[in-house]
Amino acid sequence: MTRFAPSPTGPLHLGHALAALVAWDLAARAGGTFLLRIEDIDRTRCRQEFEEELMADLRWLGLAWPEPVRRQSDHLTDYAAALGRLRALGVVYPCFCTRGEIEREVRAMVSAPHGPEGLLYPGTCRALGAEERDARIAAGEGHAWRLDVARAAAVAGPIAWHDRRHGRQSAQPEVLGDVVLARKDIGTSYHLAVVVDDAAQGISLVTRGEDLLPCTHLHRLLQHLLGLPVPEWAHHPLVRDAAGRRLAKRDHAAGLRTLREQGVTPSGIRDRLAWALREMA
Ligand code: GLU
Repeated sequence: MTRFAPSPTGPLHLGHALAALVAWDLAARAGGTFLLRIEDIDRTRCRQEFEEELMADLRWLGLAWPEPVRRQSDHLTDYAAALGRLRALGVVYPCFCTRGEIEREVRAMVSAPHGPEGLLYPGTCRALGAEERDARIAAGEGHAWRLDVARAAAVAGPIAWHDRRHGRQSAQPEVLGDVVLARKDIGTSYHLAVVVDDAAQGISLVTRGEDLLPCTHLHRLLQHLLGLPVPEWAHHPLVRDAAGRRLAKRDHAAGLRTLREQGVTPSGIRDRLAWALREMA
C-alpha cells in the first residue's frame, strides 16, 4: 500500500507529479493499492479549490484511488490521542516560546545548534519545572508540544529503517532537534499526523522526496514510541528548476495546468520524469 499525500495549498507541479507517479508505479508493480491522502491540518493555508484541482490533475495523469479519501482535518482527535501517549511516556514538553523569543535566544548563544533545515530549537522550555509548566498551562498560556528528542531516543534505544534507494539507515532523530509535534494553533503537526495516518491506512511503503530524509529519522522514532507498524521507505530524487532549486508551488512554468495548456500529454509528463522514474523502478 502506497500513498500520495499533498497539502492543498497551491497548484501541483512536476515535482508532485513525480511523487504521485512513483507511489502509483510501485503499488502497481507489487499488485498493491495506491491511496490519496489530503494533508490539510493547516486550515489557514489549505483551500477547497486546490483540493478539487489536484484531484482533477491526478485523474488526468491516469491515476485512480479508493474513496473515501482520508483528510487529516477529520482526524484531529487521533493526533491528540497520539500526543497523549507521548505525554504519558514523558518524552514531550510544553513550549511557550514565541518565534521572536527563540530567535533572540539563538542569537545570544555562542554557537547555536544547526540542523539540515537551519537553526534548531535551543531547548529553553525543556528546562522548566513541572510546577511552572502546570501553572502556565492552567493560566491559559498558549503552548506548543515539543519532543524531548534526547530523552525519546534514550527510551527507544538504537533503531533502524530501510530505504529502497539509500539502504539500511540507523535512525538519527536528533538531526531535527526538539521538533514541534503539536503546534499552538492546530494541536498537531506534519510529523505526528503523518505517522498516525500511515499506520491507520496500512501504508507499507512510504514514497516521498529525498528532501524529507531527515524527517524519516524522526518518524521512525515516533513509530517506535507509539507502537506503530514500521513501513519501508523509498525517497525519490527531486525535480529542480533551471537554477537547481527544488520546485515550489509558485513555479508556474512547471505547473501541471500550464504544461497541459501548452499541449503536454500525460505521457509527455512521464517522459519528462523518466530519468527519476527509472531510478525508482
Ligand atoms: N504533505 C507532505 C508534502 O506535501 C507529504 C510528505 C510525505 O509524503 O510524507 O510534502
